[in-house]
Amino acid sequence: MKYIVVTGGVISGLGKGITTSSLGKILQSRGLKVTAIKIDPYLNYDAGTMNPYQHGEVFVLDDGGEVDLDLGNYERFLDVNLSSEHNITTGKVYLTVIQRERKGEYLGKTVQIIPHITEEIKRRIKKIAIETMADVVIIEVGGTVGDIESMPFLEAMRQLRMEEGEKNVFFVHTTLVPSLDVVGEQKTKPTQHSVKELRSLGIQPDMIVGRSKEPLTEETRRKISLFCDVPYEAVISAPDAKSIYEVPLIFERQGVGEYIMGKMQMWGERPDWKDWERYLHRLYNPKNEVTVGIVGKYVHLKDSYISHREALTHVASYLQTKINLRWIDSEEIEEKGTSLLEGVDAILIPGGFGKRGTEGKIRAAQYARENKIPFLGVCFGFQMAVIEFARNVLGYEDAHSTELAKTNHPVIDLLPEQREIDKLGGTMRLGTHKIIIEKGSKAYEIYKSLEIYERHRHRYEVNPDYIEEFESHGLHFSGKDESGTRMEIFELREHPFFIGSQFHPEFKSRPLRPSPLHTALIKSALEYKKYKTSS
Ligand code: GLN
Repeated sequence: MKYIVVTGGVISGLGKGITTSSLGKILQSRGLKVTAIKIDPYLNYDAGTMNPYQHGEVFVLDDGGEVDLDLGNYERFLDVNLSSEHNITTGKVYLTVIQRERKGEYLGKTVQIIPHITEEIKRRIKKIAIETMADVVIIEVGGTVGDIESMPFLEAMRQLRMEEGEKNVFFVHTTLVPSLDVVGEQKTKPTQHSVKELRSLGIQPDMIVGRSKEPLTEETRRKISLFCDVPYEAVISAPDAKSIYEVPLIFERQGVGEYIMGKMQMWGERPDWKDWERYLHRLYNPKNEVTVGIVGKYVHLKDSYISHREALTHVASYLQTKINLRWIDSEEIEEKGTSLLEGVDAILIPGGFGKRGTEGKIRAAQYARENKIPFLGVCFGFQMAVIEFARNVLGYEDAHSTELAKTNHPVIDLLPEQREIDKLGGTMRLGTHKIIIEKGSKAYEIYKSLEIYERHRHRYEVNPDYIEEFESHGLHFSGKDESGTRMEIFELREHPFFIGSQFHPEFKSRPLRPSPLHTALIKSALEYKKYKTSS
């Protein structure tokens, strides 16, 4: 079993997740089976209860795991489906150990961070290695070296190297190489300090990835090599890239793949980058251009909607179209009106929770419906469009979701089985569920299948009492769950493209297999733009 451990120094937000994903991609391209684990040293059990404004989007896996957004990057780069066990948190580790202690399984011993917590960390990692039968497991340790929180994890990684042997555990340290003055001299001191910190924990990195604006100069690489005791070839340059999907190729050109394969004594096929290069070529050479307005309340932190952004990037390559994203704060629509939406070729309302900004989303949906602008509403966005329709077409002025207000017309309401629940963590309808699609519908045209599987994360849904009325006024539900009681997709009959999904298509979008709904939205946006300019 082989492990690559990726740590980070100097500051957070260096793109460690992209480094991890890219290393994985490089090994995978050599025919190796690769899987990835993210360690999050926070005490939360999972990301489910975390505000997107702190850590970015909560990513959802097939099994319903609510996890760190880096797992989304791993899935997109490696084209794999991970389980929630691939996100290890301090919360999960301690909970297991404490529960074991309560059962008396430690037989009276003093339970300690070393060895009990570190054993549990290693147990979780090795379990994944065995269960996935991967040739290589890449482990990204979240946080920055030197944080108190990540100490037990780094200690466990040090032990892992001891137990598994030098050639089986490879340490990659990512750092920041800033350039301060106008001349742009690259500064290596922060890297030196952070490696020193790492070494004080008993870990000597095998490779250093230096994040910088421009490629690392030869002098910078030599300096880092000398001061950090890492061979020159193992000091890798990670300059700002035009697209994150180019990073594997940037690494590959520096011999990262060969170097790691050699050091870890692995053998593989000759890498084949044809598809990936074609993907990038189409992304970088667009033939058309459209602008999508994304209406949400977390728009000021772009990572809050990272899976939508990536899904649209995948579509951009697929349709060879430049997709400009206009981020629109729904609260601003409440203040300034829908003029903020003028000029967009499509409108997307992503998922969300809570009342703030909802009236703005409802107005955006109305604007799209009345002006026949291509529209996609996802989860909360789906629900907002349903409320809008109930208010302005069915005439129920007070129509609302019971998540947000008391109303006589609760067109969006709790699932019956959720009514008794008082906890917020892990109590939603989560993960992949089957959706039955009606033949002949637009949804069928888009998915070309009568059965699809998509990921969910919601507590509320369309109230069955109103379905007939919606249908008779043209809001048609063309996708339902297996029982036929949960509405999964709506499409508006008298509109070129007005579609909503209760599920989240963005989570399953992959570079070479873009989300069907996002693709259809942009296709429609292209037509809408053509029509606009010709009329
Ligand atoms: N807040 C809504 C619900 O719980 C929508 C959730 C979402 O958009 N992910 O149903």
